[in-house]
Amino acid sequence: MFTTNQQPTLEARSPFELRVNLGKDVPESDVRSALASGDMGFLHSFTTGSTVDGPGVRVVAWTAGCMWRCVYCHNPDTWTMSNGIPVTVAKATEELRKYRHGLKVMSGGLTISGGEPLMQHRFVVKLLTAAKGMGVHTVLDTNGFYGDKLTDADLETIDLVLLDIKTCDSERHRHLTGMDNGPTLEFGRRLAARKRPIWLRYVLVPDLTDDPEDIKKTATFAADLGNVSRVDVLPFHQMGRYKWEKLGLDYKLESVEPPAEALLERTVTIFRNAGLTAY
Ligand code: SF4
Repeated sequence: MFTTNQQPTLEARSPFELRVNLGKDVPESDVRSALASGDMGFLHSFTTGSTVDGPGVRVVAWTAGCMWRCVYCHNPDTWTMSNGIPVTVAKATEELRKYRHGLKVMSGGLTISGGEPLMQHRFVVKLLTAAKGMGVHTVLDTNGFYGDKLTDADLETIDLVLLDIKTCDSERHRHLTGMDNGPTLEFGRRLAARKRPIWLRYVLVPDLTDDPEDIKKTATFAADLGNVSRVDVLPFHQMGRYKWEKLGLDYKLESVEPPAEALLERTVTIFRNAGLTAY
């Protein structure tokens, strides 16, 4: 495993900084009690100034730990929880407090992303609650697989969910992520029933997620929910490739190029044709 002598600070320039083993000295029993209480979480980093992770300008808390293994994951160092920095809710809240006035002025807020934040759902809910207590707008960026861990009261702490739907086709989903898409789709339905807003995120990868019929099914699913106010089609890129190499992981997409403009436009159009606002 790749190791580093430098101890990165909580704040990072971007989530594309490779971070490993930062929580490896935390005893297993402490990890378990942290997960149970939510008093401590494991964060890859905090970044500031994001304009692509929810409305306005945002502070993003990137959590460590993910149960999926997407073949196009840009941040595989966030798969392992012990790669993250152990951070108490108090410390994360203090960090956020520094930015709260600026975030309001810039119509932004806090986004919790990952990794998969709901691997640490109690910590996430505590941090979202603290943010709401400061009057900060809250966004959860999630693959939705563990959505059923959130109570209805927990959902009220989230102003907006960025729901990452990889594909509605269950077989293709298993191929892309290693896991079933049923829980993600169910979480979308539950958010719709509770009238909680969703922005859908769709990663467009040539030859993997660009099948028009498949995208049409995803678009129809999203439109039928009735609470998807925006769709972001995110073009695949190779910025995370070096992480796969450094971590000694088997990266299968070396020869895949980012989608051409025409493919991007075609995909956005499919979502728009379903009646959705898409970019
Ligand atoms: S859900 Fe996100 S963090 Fe997890 S493997 Fe997939 S792309 Fe990576």
